[in-house]
Formats: sequence, structure tokens, C-alpha cells
Amino acid sequence: MKIAVLRERTEGESRVAATPETVAKLIGLGAGVTVEKGAGSGSRIADEQFSASGATIGADARTTLAGADIVLVVRRPAAADLAGVNPGALLIGALDPYGNDGDVAALAKAGVTAMVMEFMPRITRAQVMDILSSQANLAGYQAVIEAASVFDRAMPMMMTAAGTVRPAKAFVMGAGVAGLQAIATAKRLGAVVSATDVRAAAGEQVESLGAKFIMTEALKDASGTGGYARELTKDEQAAQAELVAGHISKQDIVITTALIPGRPAPKLVTRAMVESMAPGSVIVDLAAERGGNVELTQPGKVIDHNGVVIIGYTNLAGRIPTTASQLYARNLLSFIDTLVDKKEKKLAINWDDELVKATVLTRDGAVVHPNFVAAAK
Ligand code: NAD
Repeated sequence: MKIAVLRERTEGESRVAATPETVAKLIGLGAGVTVEKGAGSGSRIADEQFSASGATIGADARTTLAGADIVLVVRRPAAADLAGVNPGALLIGALDPYGNDGDVAALAKAGVTAMVMEFMPRITRAQVMDILSSQANLAGYQAVIEAASVFDRAMPMMMTAAGTVRPAKAFVMGAGVAGLQAIATAKRLGAVVSATDVRAAAGEQVESLGAKFIMTEALKDASGTGGYARELTKDEQAAQAELVAGHISKQDIVITTALIPGRPAPKLVTRAMVESMAPGSVIVDLAAERGGNVELTQPGKVIDHNGVVIIGYTNLAGRIPTTASQLYARNLLSFIDTLVDKKEKKLAINWDDELVKATVLTRDGAVVHPNFVAAAK
């Protein structure tokens, strides 16, 4: 069983899909591991550290992929970077297939069995493999750090001989994994924190972190399937907008994290709402990669609109790459552990396992995931 770890080629992607720790464990499972030269450099992992843990270093993608049964990546590679891959090799990573039908078709054509880590079911057994949670948790933390670094005032209340400084007011929209970590981080920095979500269950979690939960009366609960939110109706959206408009003008820092699986991010903060905020306020839009929760967000950019800074980084977890890689690599290792026969020390995939069924996107040259089959025809 041979495992290849590719260097990331996406602009700004500093994470890596394996660490010396996980390489040693993969070798323990019976694998030979080849890591592409420089793959760890964005996460401060030198090739020598990978070699010391037992990996071979591949000079380029083609050499690294040669003979691989499993290819590990953070982001979906371009088909050209998979040239020479074994037909049927597993490609495991955050493959981001929604809205990328052409690239999905190219993966099928490349002959790989692509497994989408974002599709890991949110069941107890798979928690340890949940890249969405591990990366969202870090993104929520990092969002507050980014906000604090451009906020030109203090976050906590300060009682000094020169007088009292009021604490910053932070508002978190979307209280899932990222939002809850943002709330906890902003609280730790001393801000007065409020939060909103469309799932009623989020209220208790927000309050358990010491933040105030705000939700409109008109919106009872918009929980969808699998613990996720459903899209709001037009009336519900209007009620939510009214609630947000009244609240946001009094906030110093706003962190938006609202997502609906497989849909563009809901627009929650209009231009008028941004213009109602005081100059010096900061917004971090964690949903920027999916189009943003804020009307004015420019994905990948930091902009200043009438003195309000809007941060639209699309890869916040990647801005703390060492920790992000450490957790991401462990998520992948845990999944691979389920695909291996430990006695025989070889790949033994149970195609009926719900983890496999949920994540397989392409197989035998075709797009097979039910959510994408129609688009592929
Ligand atoms: P997500 O990233 O899909 O969305 C982020 C948050 O945005 C969610 O809380 C969602 O309700 C909220 N949202 C959507 N539309 C909104 C709107 N219009 N206004 C305000 N908020 C809006 O979600 P997530 O962080 O992945 O977590 C979703 C759920 O899954 C949570 O209940 C979480 O506890 C649960 N979860 C379960 C497991 C597990 O069981 N293994 C693992 C991780 C998360």
C-alpha cells in the first residue's frame, strides 16, 4: 500500500495533508509514504522531518504519485497535477465539488476514486474524521484574532487610573462550530458578545458560553437535516433582516459564519447595515469562500467601506497552518485507518460502509455520488 502526499498548488494554501506524526502512523498501518518535496513548507514542516518519520521525498507530483494507492491532498488538485496516477487510486481531501462540475468530471476522467472529506457523515464514529469541524473551529478562533488585529481599540473593559475603557461589542452570526469558537474567543478577549442563528438549538449553546442569543419571534426554528440549517423563506429572511438591522449598528465587531450545505452563503448584512456601523468597526466574513454573508465582501480581500473594515479571507484556517495541518492530517489518518486491513496491512475498502458511501464522488471513470450524477450527464 503506497500513499502519496501532494504539495498544495492552490494560491495561498499553506496547509499540508500529512504531518510527520501521521506519516509515522500511516507507516505503522503498513503503508509506504512519499511526500512531495516542499509539501510541508507552508506549515513549517521541513522535508527532513518527513524523511525522519519514514517518508520518501518525491521530487515532483509525477514522481510522488507513481504507484500510489492513496493520494492525500488538502484542496482538489487540477487534473494535470494527477498525470500518471494509478487508475482507481483513492484521492482523499477537501475536494469542494459543489459548483465545480467541470472539475468533478475531470477527476472521474483521471480515473481516481475521489473521496470528499466534507461529506463525512456527522455521526459519532466519524467525529474524529470531521475536517469541517476541525477547520471551522480554528477559523472561528482566527476570525476573532484577525478582527482584533485591525480593531484600533481595546477589546476588554479596562479600569485604569486614567479612566474606564468600555469593552468592545462583538456580534456573531451563525453559531455552528466556527461561530461558537468565535464567541468563546471574543469572550476570552473580554468583549461583550451576542450571537444569532436560525436553529433554536444553537441558543442554549450560545448562552452556555456566556453570550446573549438573539433570534426573531417570527422565526421559530429553521433546523434542516443532519444538524444543519435549512434555507429561510422570504418572510423569514425579512424578519431576520429587521432584527439584524436593529442590532448591528451598535456593534464594534461582527463575525459572520452562516452557511447552508450545498448553497451559496445567505446574504445577511446589507450595504445599508454596514453603513449604519461606526467607523473603526470590523467585520470578518467567514462565509467569503461561498460568496459571503455580507453584501460588500470581496472574497480574498480586506476592504474599507466608510471606515468599516470588511475582512473576506477565504481560508482562515490556512492562516494558522501549523495547527490546521496537524488536525486535518489527523482527520485523514483516522479515515484511512477504517480503509485498511490491519492484519494483512493492505487496503480493504468496504464499499458498503456508510462513511465510504457518503464520501465517494467518482469511481471507475464515472461520477457516482447521487448529488452529482445528474449534473455529470
Ligand atoms: P455550517 O458551517 O453549515 O453553518 C454555520 C452556522 O450557520 C450553522 O449554525 C447554521 O445554523 C447557521 N446559519 C445558517 N443560515 C443562517 C442564517 N440565515 N442566519 C444565521 N445563522 C445561519 O454549520 P456547522 O458549524 O458545521 O454546524 C452545524 C451543526 O452540526 C451544529 O448543530 C453542530 O453542532 C453540528 N455538528 C455535529 C457534528 C457531529 O455530530 N459529528 C460535528 C460538527 C457539527
